Order: sequence, then structure tokens, then C-alpha cells
Amino acid sequence: MATVNCRVLKKGKCVVTQKYKGTTHGGIDLVGEGYTLDDVVAHSAGEVVSVVSNINYNTYKSGQKIYGNYIKIKHDNGMYTIYAHLKYGSIKVKNGQKVSKGTVIAYMGNTGYSTGAHLHFEVRDVNNASVDPTNYLSSDLSNANTTKYTVGKTYTLQVNLKVREGAGTDKKQKKYSQLTADGKEHAVPGENAALKSGTRVTALQVINVGNDVWLRIPSGYVAAIYQGNIYIK
Ligand SMILES: [Zn+2]
Repeated sequence: MATVNCRVLKKGKCVVTQKYKGTTHGGIDLVGEGYTLDDVVAHSAGEVVSVVSNINYNTYKSGQKIYGNYIKIKHDNGMYTIYAHLKYGSIKVKNGQKVSKGTVIAYMGNTGYSTGAHLHFEVRDVNNASVDPTNYLSSDLSNANTTKYTVGKTYTLQVNLKVREGAGTDKKQKKYSQLTADGKEHAVPGENAALKSGTRVTALQVINVGNDVWLRIPSGYVAAIYQGNIYIK
């Protein structure tokens, strides 16, 4: 299988040996380049919120822990990462400890329900629900990637938002006079158009611009997620 960049192993290269399958496999399985083992490092800065380090078996029996030795880290944006099947005796962090991005936290192992040494890596959103970690292997955690918008649904502006003629901050800002009648009612007075925080909008189209998400609404285009900040939800 293909080697990909990944920031949870010290050498920065991973092979994905098992994909994310939601409820039946809430993470991805990784080995190092060439099916090698490596140090496990923190994906991003955060605080260790859970550590199990006393598992020294690697066969699954009823009542035994599936994850084996594992570490769970809560990150600054409220999301979590989990690193499982860690080698017995290799864990270098304690519960409550702050870690930086790239801090060595343990060594890959074969503890718990595991049939060969690998890292089982999970990403959880702010509600502790698992999300596919694949997109985060070499990029920052972002609530943005776990927020979904649906055409036809109605959302609420969390801040005052400029209305533009297209999706992107390089697009021209609309004039107040160009808004729909309904938009004018909810706009901040002034020459350029900005809708007030709390305005309800219906998504007519959802547009991805890099890591950002824009919505087309009846009055124009507004940033729903910009640089990791959620402006509409
Ligand atoms: Zn797994």
C-alpha cells in the first residue's frame, strides 16, 4: 500500500493498513514506511486526558481491553486524538500532562485486540464522536472538517458577516442596496452589506474554498467556516 505523510509517527511516513469504517472501526490502522515500527508522537498540542499503560497481552479474550495501552489527548480546539495498541512499558506521558505537536508519547505495539504491531489512531470531534482521521494525517485538526451544511437547511449567523458577490474573501463585497428585501431587514446599516449576528439564512449552495466553506444564500455569498472559525451554524 501507498506510503503517505503522517504526523503521528516520528519519521513522518505511514502506510494505512486498515481504513476508517465508522462504528465497526472508529479509527485507522497505521504502520511506518515499509511496514516498520516507529515512535508515536502527539498529532497536535494538547493535554493528556486518559492513559492506560498496564496491558501486556496481545490476544483478545472476553473482558480484556480492546485498545490495549492507549493515550487520549484533548486538543486546544476541543477535539481529541487516541493512540492505541501501544507497546507495554513505552508510554512516556501522564494523565494531565501538556504535550506539544510532535512530542514522543510512546512506541507502537501490539497490545489489546491486535494481530500485529501497529498504531490504531482515532480522531474525535468536540462531542467525542469519532470522525475519519484520514484527512488529518498530515493536517491540523479543525472543527471545520466535522461541520456539514446541507442545501435547503436553515442556519444561524454567529457573527456579523459580510455578503459577497462570490465565494471567497477576494470577491467583491455587496452593497446594501443589492441585498434582497429580507436581507436588508437583517443587515447592519451602511454602504456595504453585512448581515447581523443571529440572522437565519437558508443554504442554496455549499461551496468549499480550500479549507473554508462558503454558503450561497438569497442575498449573496457568506463565509460559513473561515480559517477554522465557524461563523454559521
Ligand atoms: Zn484499528
